[in-house]
Amino acid sequence: RSKAEGPGRATIFDTSMHDRVRERIELEGALRTALAENQLSVVYQPIVRMETGRPVGAEALVRWNHPERGPIPPMTFVPVAEDAGLIGPLGDWVRNEALGQLSRWRADGTVGADFYLSINVSPRQLSQAELPMVVSGELMTHGVPASAVALEMTESVMADGGSVTAKVLFELRELGVQLLVDDFGTGFSALGYLRKFPVTGVKIDRSFVSGLGEGGEDEEIVRAVVAMGRALGLSIVAEGVETRVQRDALAAVGVTQGQGWLWGPGVPAGDFASHWSARQHASGAERLGARNT
Ligand code: C2E
Ligand code: MG
Ligand code: MG
Ligand code: MG
Repeated sequence: RSKAEGPGRATIFDTSMHDRVRERIELEGALRTALAENQLSVVYQPIVRMETGRPVGAEALVRWNHPERGPIPPMTFVPVAEDAGLIGPLGDWVRNEALGQLSRWRADGTVGADFYLSINVSPRQLSQAELPMVVSGELMTHGVPASAVALEMTESVMADGGSVTAKVLFELRELGVQLLVDDFGTGFSALGYLRKFPVTGVKIDRSFVSGLGEGGEDEEIVRAVVAMGRALGLSIVAEGVETRVQRDALAAVGVTQGQGWLWGPGVPAGDFASHWSARQHASGAERLGARNT
């Protein structure tokens, strides 16, 4: 796509400072337009019980399809949104979209009452004192119980966050939402924050999962995380599970929930319902459907 834009156009691949600054400004403007003109969407990636391969929840992941550039990855535009003061509106939009979807899925039986939806929140969102009140209002609007919602944050939130962030976390937990540490293990070695903040679970980063089953140190690291999680009463999800070897190694050390391409990537809501519906599974329609198509 960068070629199609012609010579002299800044792209995200340019490396000079000037071009990067210009790119940033362009992206920021484009993101404002995207929010206003509905170019964003949410995909849902199943989080499964590894034993059965059936979903216990899903992670909501934002997508941006730019009309000329095509898909722009969240790793590119979420940081821009943070810097440009757009993460508030972006986060509001994602939560409303995802909670509305969860509400419809609960009503039509696509998911059961125990199913949880996991939503990413960035540090800046968690430093907004009004976030718990806003989330509480959204839960009521969509008629979704707080227990069916998890918020994912990185370790840095708790390491760097100020007193407002701490208060926000306690108030969110008070509402009943789960609080998960995303990319667990990549941030800080000091684990004191797990006791200091009302964290309910951790998601083991993909970097510790990829080498599993090859007899390296990752096995020991994951084993230690499981032991710690058990001691602290935390839920544990393994991220980025791509192979059966990794799945089996995780199961062997006691990890019960997984997420990754082995089971499936994030997909639009309609595809999630047709591939992962609890209703279909319960009635055996999944097998029938497979025979008919
Ligand atoms: P994350 O929260 O750690 O999300 C997991 C990422 O790993 C997703 O990338 C997902 O598509 C990818 N993934 C899942 N399974 C596999 C696998 O088996 N192998 C590999 N290689 N990758 C896998 P994605 O969707 O590109 O999102 C990247 C990051 O952007 C997320 O990392 C999260 O930090 C951020 N993000 C995504 N959506 C949102 C959002 O709505 N709000 C905020 N604040 N951040 C978001
Ligand atoms: Mg996440
Ligand atoms: Mg993650
Ligand atoms: Mg990650």
